[in-house]
Amino acid sequence: MLYQKIFFNFLYPFYEGLLKKRKTFKFYKEYSNNQKISQSVLKDKQFCALKNLLIHAYEQVPFYQKQWDEIGFNPKTLLDVNQLERLPLLTKDVVRENYMDMRAKSYIGLNITKTTGGSTGVPFKFEHDRENYDRRQGVTWRGYGWSGSRFGDRTLYFWGTAIGSLQKKNPLKDRLYNWFYNRKIVNVFSMSNQNINEYVDYVNSYKPVGIVSYTGPLFEIAKYILDNKIKVHKVNWLISAAEPLFETQRIVIEQAFSAPLFNTYGCREFTLIAAECVHKNGLHINDDHLLVEITDDMGAGTSDIGNVVITDLYNYGMPLIRYVNGDVAQLKKEKCACGLPMSQLAFVDGRRLDKIITRSGKMLPGEFFPHMLKDISGIEKFQVVQNEIDKITLKIISSDRFDKDFSEAYISTCLIDTIGIELQIMFQYVDDIPLTQSGKHRVTISTIIEAL
Ligand SMILES: [Zn+2]
Repeated sequence: MLYQKIFFNFLYPFYEGLLKKRKTFKFYKEYSNNQKISQSVLKDKQFCALKNLLIHAYEQVPFYQKQWDEIGFNPKTLLDVNQLERLPLLTKDVVRENYMDMRAKSYIGLNITKTTGGSTGVPFKFEHDRENYDRRQGVTWRGYGWSGSRFGDRTLYFWGTAIGSLQKKNPLKDRLYNWFYNRKIVNVFSMSNQNINEYVDYVNSYKPVGIVSYTGPLFEIAKYILDNKIKVHKVNWLISAAEPLFETQRIVIEQAFSAPLFNTYGCREFTLIAAECVHKNGLHINDDHLLVEITDDMGAGTSDIGNVVITDLYNYGMPLIRYVNGDVAQLKKEKCACGLPMSQLAFVDGRRLDKIITRSGKMLPGEFFPHMLKDISGIEKFQVVQNEIDKITLKIISSDRFDKDFSEAYISTCLIDTIGIELQIMFQYVDDIPLTQSGKHRVTISTIIEAL
């Protein structure tokens, strides 16, 4: 409690602002103040930010300049947010094919480059400018705050950590950094039936105020707590991220920890998109940071279930305008009783990643594979399938840039480092990975889990 106050009022503003010359704290305050304004003022802010971004994109980004000239769109004449529907949707394929022309001229070489394993099993590279990074942090802390958490609260993370030699590691620096931020990160990639009690021990020894976790592993830990009737340290809040949360899972997790669990929705391209407030009845969208549209396949807005289409209002380095992230969601019509001016998503059908299990009881979250494979070049699309307890098949659609020998050795080593030798990996090179009956791509499929 005391550290949280010192952290919030002195340490963090000093470290981020004066030492690192970041604007995170300024943006956190700006976004926090936006919670108190009316919905119409918030929408005005959003429209202004959108128009400024579009004008910048037209002047600085060759891809948009060419595209908008062809369809006769001049961003300076934009009068209403609905006019955005005139612009084509932006898919991952389009970004990949036009990558060099997607970056703003004055930001080339200054951006932060990111890769993602993708919610659709399609690895993807993109960039954002440095100020955008600070904004992402600020808006994420605000969203997490809707659960009752406070910036600098002692927090335990059940999360995936760096895998393999391609992901830079500096354990000492990480430990210091996490100590300063009053948090501990525990690797869920090495969780098993044999060591799951250690994860409960972390909660009881670290005594966090709250827990942030991948949904699947938190559910496993919760079941273990209930099955074994373990007394667990009382936290004030729990936040689930990175995977969809089913209400059946929420009931079990809340019961095990005797604390409320709040769902969040994000993706690597934009970080936090939406989060639940104390009412836990829909996810509030970061309307003052992103423009989230729910559209049909032609790009027209719909109140039905539709594609999640996002414009990052403050990524000036590589503007992603009307970007289709592969998820499906629906907007919520009713206003939330909490009074926040942000609109809401009723539900999101995001990535579904089955966990992979081994004979000795290890449980590898599906998140592991996008996390590892994002660093390997030349993978167009992938899917992990487990039909037998001792074996997984990694299906890959590869491009010319794929180095087969190096990549197979690297992937095998990462897998052995994480879960040992009991799981054989088969590589299968395919031309197509069919969608499921619902039209979605499944990144990891376990028929063993489905049969349980
Ligand atoms: Zn609310």
